[in-house]
Amino acid sequence: MPVDATLPYDDQNIFAKILRGEIPNRTVYEDEWALAFHDINPQAPIHILVIPKGTYVSWDDFSGKASEAEIAGFIRAVGHVAREQGLVAPGYRLLANAGIDSHQEVPHLHVHLFGGKALGPMLMR
Ligand code: 5GP
Repeated sequence: MPVDATLPYDDQNIFAKILRGEIPNRTVYEDEWALAFHDINPQAPIHILVIPKGTYVSWDDFSGKASEAEIAGFIRAVGHVAREQGLVAPGYRLLANAGIDSHQEVPHLHVHLFGGKALGPMLMR
């Protein structure tokens, strides 16, 4: 079910539970600002989710309210993970769903990192 990303942050969302260690995940990277882990239902050979450690619902919430340090830390973490996964030369795709029309399902900001094969053109149905 898509979520209304204009609602206040819900600390019972699944990624909040992952950040608190209440639900296991396959972590690929973690630092002060971000956690990156494999998506449970991968849509490409490499499908990693990168999330900020702060409690932000969406890209709108994060870009409007996060500190410069949080924004820099998160963006750097996404780039670091892509580099560490060997995706810079072959290429990769980033995607952040935000709100109902995008079908965002988890109300904690996350960037999908896809790679590991030729992904083809982005398709909108
Ligand atoms: P969204 O549609 O919100 O952009 O994407 C949510 C993503 O979270 C989906 O790709 C889904 O497979 C992934 N996901 C949902 N629950 C879990 C979970 O418990 N663990 C992991 N690793 N991924 C999850």
